[in-house]
Amino acid sequence: MEDLFKCNFCGRKKNEITFLISGINGHICNFCIEKTYSLIHKKLEQKKEIDEQQLIKFLKKPKEIKKFLDQYVVGQDEAKKVISVAVYNHYKRIQFIVENKKNKIEKKDIKNEKIEIEKSNILLIGNTGTGKTLLAKSISKLLKIPFTIADATTLTEAGYVGEDVESILSRLLQSVNYNINSAEKGIVFIDEIDKISKKSNSNPSITRDVSGEGVQQALLKILEGTIINVPPQGGRKHPDQKMIPINTENILFIAGGTFDGIEKILSNRINQYSTIGYHTQSKKIEKKDVIFFKNIISDDLKKFGLIPELIGRFPIITYLNPLNKIMLKKILTEPKNALIKQYQELFNMDKISLNVTNKALNIIVDKTIQLGLGARGLRFFCEKLFLDYMFNIDDHIEENIHKKLNIDENVAKKKLS
Ligand code: ADP
Repeated sequence: MEDLFKCNFCGRKKNEITFLISGINGHICNFCIEKTYSLIHKKLEQKKEIDEQQLIKFLKKPKEIKKFLDQYVVGQDEAKKVISVAVYNHYKRIQFIVENKKNKIEKKDIKNEKIEIEKSNILLIGNTGTGKTLLAKSISKLLKIPFTIADATTLTEAGYVGEDVESILSRLLQSVNYNINSAEKGIVFIDEIDKISKKSNSNPSITRDVSGEGVQQALLKILEGTIINVPPQGGRKHPDQKMIPINTENILFIAGGTFDGIEKILSNRINQYSTIGYHTQSKKIEKKDVIFFKNIISDDLKKFGLIPELIGRFPIITYLNPLNKIMLKKILTEPKNALIKQYQELFNMDKISLNVTNKALNIIVDKTIQLGLGARGLRFFCEKLFLDYMFNIDDHIEENIHKKLNIDENVAKKKLS
C-alpha cells in the first residue's frame, strides 16, 4: 500500500516529498517536476541559441542576397541593393546582441558595451505593382524565416471599428503555428503605410481615429523593440483574453506605400530652393519620373502626414521605380516565377505546349501600361487572354498526344480588345 504513494521517477516515498501528482499509471513528485522543468527550460534556451547561430552562419553577404533577389525581381536595382545591405546588417545586429548576452552570462569581456546597433527597418516607396511586396517576400524566402503581410488600412485605434495594431504580430505568430521563438526573428511587411498618415482621407475618420495619429503612435510601440502582448487570434483585444508576449527587438519591419500626392510636396520644396538660386522657372514633378522617388526626404514624409517618431523608426528609406515597357516584358518571361512560365506549366500538365509570340507579349505590355496598375495588370490581361483556352481544355486532351497553342499578335488583339 505504501508503494502506491511513491514517485515513479525517483522512488522517493510520500514522507520524503511535499506533494505527488498522479497520472493514469503512476505518480511524479515535486522534486522531479522541478528538475524536468529546469531541464526543459535549459534545452529550449540551447535550441534558441542554436537557431540564432544557424541563421547567422547561413546568412549570405549583401552581394549574394542581391543576386538571389535578381532571380525574382526585375529591375529595382537601387532598392535591391539597399535591402540586401539592410537585411545583412539586421542579422549581424542579432549576432551582436546574442554574443553580448552570452558573454554577460559567462562573465567574459563584453565587446563595445556602449554601442547599441539600431534596428534597420525599411520603408519602401513606389507606385502600386512595382514589386514592394515581392521584394519583402523574396527576402523571407531566401532566409527561410517567418514572414507576414499586414495591411495598415485595416488598423485602427482602440475604440474604433477595426483591428488593433498588435494583430500584425498575431498573424506572424499564426504563420509559425505559435512558435514564439521563431516569430521573434521574422519579417513583417506593413503594406499601405501611407494610408495611416494624419491627413489621409482615403478612410473616413469614424472608422479610424480623428487625426490618424493614434494608429501611428500604436505602431510606434511595436516598431521600437519591446515586449508586446499579442492577442493570439488577432482582431480586437478584449480583457478576458489570454495574451502572448512577443519581443519585437529582432523582428524586421518593412513598410511599403505609394504616397499618392507627395509629388506636390516634393515640387514645392524643390521649387522653393530653385527660386532662391538662379532658376526662377518652377519645375513640375511627376510621379512617373524615374528620378522622382530618389528625391524624397524625411521632411516630405512628415509633411505628408507621418509623425516624425514613426519616420525615425524607418532609418532606411528606398524607392522603387515605375516599370517601363522593357521591364514589364521581362517580368512576363524572365523571373523564376514569371507569369508566362506559370501558364506554360499549367498547360503542359494537360499536354499542351504554349507559345506566346514576341508581338503578342508587346500587346499584353501595352495594355498593362494603359491600365496603370504596374505589373499587377499583367496578370489581369493574361487571365483574360488564356481564359477560353483553359475553359475548353478537355477538348484538347488526348492520351500521349501533345498539342501546340500558339498565341500570336492577332489572337492577343482579339482577346484583349
Ligand atoms: P506592390 O509594389 O504593390 O507591393 P507587388 O510586389 O505586390 O506590388 O507586385 C504585384 C505583382 O506584380 C506580383 O505578382 C509581382 O510578382 C509582380 N511584380 C511587380 N513588380 C515586379 C518586379 N519588379 N519584378 C517582377 N515581378 C514584379
